[in-house]
Amino acid sequence: MDRKTRIAVVGAGLGGMTVAGFLQRAGFDVGIYEQAPAFSRIGAGIILSSNVMKVLRRLGIEQMIIDVGIKPDSYISRAWDTGETMYKIEFDAASEVRFGAPYLNIHRGDLHAALEKGVAPGSIAYNHRLLTLEETSSAIRLVFDNGVKVDADIVIGADGINSKVREFLLGTEPPRFAGAVAHRAIFQTEALRGFKIPDCTKWWGRDRHILVYFMTSRRDEVYVIGVAPRSSWDSNTASLPSSRADLIADFANFHPDLLRVLEVTTDVTLWPIYDRERHDRWSGGRIVMLGDSVHPMRPYMAGGGAMAIEDGAILARCLAQFDNPAEAFRWFEATRFERVGDVQRISIENSWMRGPTDTDWFYCYDPCVAPLTQPA
Ligand SMILES: Cc1cc2nc3c(=O)[nH]c(=O)nc-3n(C[C@H](O)[C@H](O)[C@H](O)COP(=O)(O)OP(=O)(O)OC[C@H]3O[C@@H](n4cnc5c(N)ncnc54)[C@H](O)[C@@H]3O)c2cc1C
Repeated sequence: MDRKTRIAVVGAGLGGMTVAGFLQRAGFDVGIYEQAPAFSRIGAGIILSSNVMKVLRRLGIEQMIIDVGIKPDSYISRAWDTGETMYKIEFDAASEVRFGAPYLNIHRGDLHAALEKGVAPGSIAYNHRLLTLEETSSAIRLVFDNGVKVDADIVIGADGINSKVREFLLGTEPPRFAGAVAHRAIFQTEALRGFKIPDCTKWWGRDRHILVYFMTSRRDEVYVIGVAPRSSWDSNTASLPSSRADLIADFANFHPDLLRVLEVTTDVTLWPIYDRERHDRWSGGRIVMLGDSVHPMRPYMAGGGAMAIEDGAILARCLAQFDNPAEAFRWFEATRFERVGDVQRISIENSWMRGPTDTDWFYCYDPCVAPLTQPA
């Protein structure tokens, strides 16, 4: 594609920052438009598996995030009642070689701060909430809530689960409530008063699960995310304040090793879990979508952010390689459909690493060099 092509990325989330960073490295003129006034360090952790770390390496931020996150020594799946180990995967020097990169747990705010360093200084326009798109004969006009209008040749919708770009391409359709909510909490390890916990544990119940992991190599900050069923979510807000008591109520019958952790949680918040049914139209004309805007998924495999970041790397490759946008988008979709579909399906099943699991197809993948798939 002609490097003078003006590319607008809507949303400075995980996928948007990734695609913008790679396109800028390839010599494109890219503007990123983000509704938020700035990024705050919201209370949540994120798992970055080796497939993702390889992308972040090429964005030049791998070491930065290794420095602030933690390479857990293992991931353990335990039964909610007996505490029995159902599955364990070790992460060490040998697994790094095998997967091609480390496996990392990190505070989301720290990941975002690093991603900001992966894009050209000054290229993120904050306080720009996209209202709509208008197609003219020579460009696509982005209309923002602050009155600003911007013309671009290509628009990349990276604006998350309630995407305006998706609305423009596919019509208005609210995301699907998954019948579950997530309690999230972060606390300082010293609150455990010497009680030792492994680096990363997922506790599996019959209809609920809960994940506990450190977010720093100093092991001084712990993240808890516990998912439990709910029949509905009645609020319009992204999250609600919750409490330690509510969190414990949902996991009251779980193993004492877990309850010992839950008893010291603070600042608990409650988040609805949404996804959408699979949709295989990711682009139209000069507009394309990636990440949660087009394939949001339940966060049970730690795959949503991973897929957004992988999308960013592959889409940038396609735009750099092919001369016309429609061709680039077709190659992007052909390369992504199957893998993203698999991750969506496993996320719905909630079966990842519950028992013996082939992890190589997921962790060994390198989106920066994997062959692109020829469209049918
Ligand atoms: C409880 C929970 C836990 C999760 N844990 C994990 C995990 O451990 N690992 C993992 O890989 N994934 C996890 N996920 C999923 C992951 O957060 C998402 O899949 C990922 O953030 C999607 O990235 P994205 O770039 O597509 O969208 P987002 O990261 O949501 O970014 C979208 C951006 O667009 C901006 N935006 C939205 N609308 C507009 C607009 N109109 N104009 C301008 N800007 C706009 C938003 O402000 C935001 O910055 C979790 C999700 C949830 C709900």
